[in-house]
Amino acid sequence: MPSSTVENYLKAILHLQGEGRGSTTVGEIARELEVTPGTVTIMMRHLKERGLVAYEPRRGLSLKPRGVVEAMKVVRRHRLIELFLVEAMGLDWSEVHEEAEILEHVISDRLLDRIDEMLGNPTHDPHGDPIPDRRGIVAKDRAVPLGEADAGRYRVVRVSDGDSALLGWLNEKGLRIGEEIDLSHPDRAAGVLEVSRSGGKRLRLGAEAAGQVFVEAMG
Ligand SMILES: [Zn+2]
Repeated sequence: MPSSTVENYLKAILHLQGEGRGSTTVGEIARELEVTPGTVTIMMRHLKERGLVAYEPRRGLSLKPRGVVEAMKVVRRHRLIELFLVEAMGLDWSEVHEEAEILEHVISDRLLDRIDEMLGNPTHDPHGDPIPDRRGIVAKDRAVPLGEADAGRYRVVRVSDGDSALLGWLNEKGLRIGEEIDLSHPDRAAGVLEVSRSGGKRLRLGAEAAGQVFVEAMG
């Protein structure tokens, strides 16, 4: 099995088990990677043999510590490459995820270290996602989706990196990681959220977009 396929499975399991209960299922992985459950089952036996996942048929499955370390290495490569493409190559944040999906499997450790050094050992990628350190340790934030936030003042801390159309639109609107926004009277029933930005600017977001912008309440 090509290592890029294994890496994509490890990354998908890390992502899925991170949301909630610490484990995931064959069905969830199949949906995430758009493959059949049978294909996932075969891969899980392979990853179990390699000591990367804990998996019993019909029970939840999760990464073993070695699997977490391997998955975090891929995430580190992905996020450093994204930042490199923005900072050094001048791409915008809507253009880098797809490129990083490819390059994360082929870049050497030596080149990655050089990029890390050149960028000043950065802690976050262009979308605000934390970059795992060399040991695979990643900083956690207390961000919530804007769509679930109560009225108040917030800082934008990250935006989902997978939806390039949304990222392109937010880029056009000039939204930035670290920007401070005000959310007054969130009316979720209407399906549209309006936030105030500095300089009296306003931004209206649909429910789906508001679910992909993550904010932290300001002190
Ligand atoms: Zn990405």
